[in-house]
Amino acid sequence: MKYLSTRGHSPALSFSQILLGGLAPDGGLYMPDKYPQFDDVDLTAMRDMNYRDLAFAILSRLIADDDIPANDLRAIIDKTYIAEVYGFTRKGQQAEDITPTVKLEDDLYLLSLSNGPTLAFKDMAMQLLGNLFEYVLTKNGETTNILGATSGDTGSAAEYAMRGKKGVRVFMLSPHKKMSRFQTAQMFSLQDDNIFNIAVNGVFDDCQDMVKAVSNDAAFKAKYKIGAVNSINWGRIVAQVVYYFKGYFAVTDSNDQKVDFSVPSGNFGNVCAGHIARMMGLPIDKLVVATNENDVLDEFFRTGVYRPRGSANTYHTSSPSMDISKASNFERFIYDLLDQNGDKVRELWAGVDQGGAFDIQQLLKKVRTFGFVSGSSNHEARMKTIRATNAKYGVVIDTHTADGLKVALEYKVKGTPMIVLETALPAKFEDALVEALGDVPPRPASLDGIEDLPQKFTVMDVSVDAIKTFIQEKVA
Ligand SMILES: *Cc1c(COP(=O)(O)O)cnc(C)c1O
Repeated sequence: MKYLSTRGHSPALSFSQILLGGLAPDGGLYMPDKYPQFDDVDLTAMRDMNYRDLAFAILSRLIADDDIPANDLRAIIDKTYIAEVYGFTRKGQQAEDITPTVKLEDDLYLLSLSNGPTLAFKDMAMQLLGNLFEYVLTKNGETTNILGATSGDTGSAAEYAMRGKKGVRVFMLSPHKKMSRFQTAQMFSLQDDNIFNIAVNGVFDDCQDMVKAVSNDAAFKAKYKIGAVNSINWGRIVAQVVYYFKGYFAVTDSNDQKVDFSVPSGNFGNVCAGHIARMMGLPIDKLVVATNENDVLDEFFRTGVYRPRGSANTYHTSSPSMDISKASNFERFIYDLLDQNGDKVRELWAGVDQGGAFDIQQLLKKVRTFGFVSGSSNHEARMKTIRATNAKYGVVIDTHTADGLKVALEYKVKGTPMIVLETALPAKFEDALVEALGDVPPRPASLDGIEDLPQKFTVMDVSVDAIKTFIQEKVA
């Protein structure tokens, strides 16, 4: 199994060679040279597997044995997907299931992906990534300094995945006093020696610009081994494929049945994993792409026009983890849509990378053959959905999951199970939940009082020199 760039002009590499990097040298994203296929016999064998066995069955087909030997991969998976890590289950659920389902009514389910340490689905992939990073770095006698910017979710998931890992340091920039008290406490209460929280006197875009400036300094980047764990990382996508299988088996009893998934989407990473599961043979009928007011993806799946918006035209919404201007992983789907023709992808993105758009409405019929449909939500619909779900089923959902459920109901057909991915727990977005239900959402007991714990962080002005000096001092 080798990995190729979506733009067709980078050398083929192994899984562990692309694990620590970002974009391919030609500006594309890595994809497997071919999808492994799971047939009826495979699916039957996988049906009753626990999460770890299932993860191994899938990942071992995407990672060559001479790259990460099967026994090592098994050990990495076995220490990642355990009840101790994914323990924030709802009443009646088993932590050992890792991604249990909640039945709302006949043919309508939530797939709980937010039982990890930061209460969002990003923990599903990020925890595996932490263990994979440590394994590959140790094996090669290397280190990496992860530099990132966050407005909440990604940064905390990365820190909880990388804390205490050998060979890894994390430098995470966030806008000072602009995250919620809970999010700030989650990140800043980490006392690990390899985690550095930097509170920047500015907004999120300032943080991101600082990260970009450091990454564009090739000499500094090489000398200080600056790395990233952004949403285009293939390791994250691949880890997410597993729970589509798990969800499918949980709500069906025969491989003849098909299911639909509805996915609250921003950077297209989560639903891209669903697309890949489908390409590998999982019987998925529809993949419902649900966006918030930032509807660049919904626009594409309705019209065939992909038109990124730019950060100045991005709305700040009450489902903030889906507030994106462009969908970084979208190129992966277009690559498959264009039959893995890297030159065609290059052509389309030549315009996009210059701030432009593309129109492939002539391919919309073909897009449908991949199962994709879409819809968008907004604040009012989000509040309504949270209230209705609580009233009808006694289940409290967060704002992102509400967007997924809202759009799911527009596509649900009788007889086909619709699985809505729960991408965060409501406790993470207290203010919006109080607005919807008038009550503070339940919080896992072990996180009670997290705001009162001692915090470790450094305040910094918006300055590229300041962050470079800081990294130099800590690495020395
Ligand atoms: C990141 C995130 C999303 C969006 O996922 P993508 O992979 O970027 O499409 C949705 N909901 C929550 C809670 C998230 O943290």
